[in-house]
Amino acid sequence: MSQVYVSNHPLILHKLALLRSVTTEPKKFREVVAEITQLLTYEATQDLTTVEEEVVTPMATTLCRVVNERVGLVPVLRAGLGMVEAVLQLLPYAQVWHIGLFRDEKTLKPIEYYNRLPDHSSVDTCLLLDPMLATGGSAAATVDILKKWGAGRIKYVGLIAAPEGIAHLSAQHPDVPIHVAAVDSHLNEIGYIVPGLGDAGDRQFGTG
Ligand code: URA
Repeated sequence: MSQVYVSNHPLILHKLALLRSVTTEPKKFREVVAEITQLLTYEATQDLTTVEEEVVTPMATTLCRVVNERVGLVPVLRAGLGMVEAVLQLLPYAQVWHIGLFRDEKTLKPIEYYNRLPDHSSVDTCLLLDPMLATGGSAAATVDILKKWGAGRIKYVGLIAAPEGIAHLSAQHPDVPIHVAAVDSHLNEIGYIVPGLGDAGDRQFGTG
């Protein structure tokens, strides 16, 4: 079973209420996606390795610690796009590798349509960015791709998960920790999370 981290921080709870509300328009929605993503990333990156580095302050030379892992951000197109810039603000040197998957509307199974990963992995830790962990099919398929690529550690960072998505991702990849702001009640018959927030891509890009 994967480690599942669900934040109950008051700021995340408050921002989640804004995100869920049907009255929140795309501009505000995008801002809140970014804000929650940053708060979750802060937690998800708490075990990145650091090394000592000498730094000269105006007063003295001192030893500091700096992150020495190569981090890859892997947004799942298209809904994961809104999380990228927020993480890049915290990890400006991270590599960004896009993976495009869509859900077949009948089978709800993920179909890959974009993947330009080079032959060999160039990262130590991957943050898989996808706001909604619904059936877990896309997340598990993306982790399959990243493991074949040779990515080191992989962590899932999303906004809302369904219990079904957590069960599927953890069954397929128990080594991948899951960081989300909330775990909701269930999936409906067309694979949407209830109560959820609707379609995370449509809500961000005004296409609903
Ligand atoms: N994808 C979404 O954007 N929303 C859901 O509720 C489920 C999958």
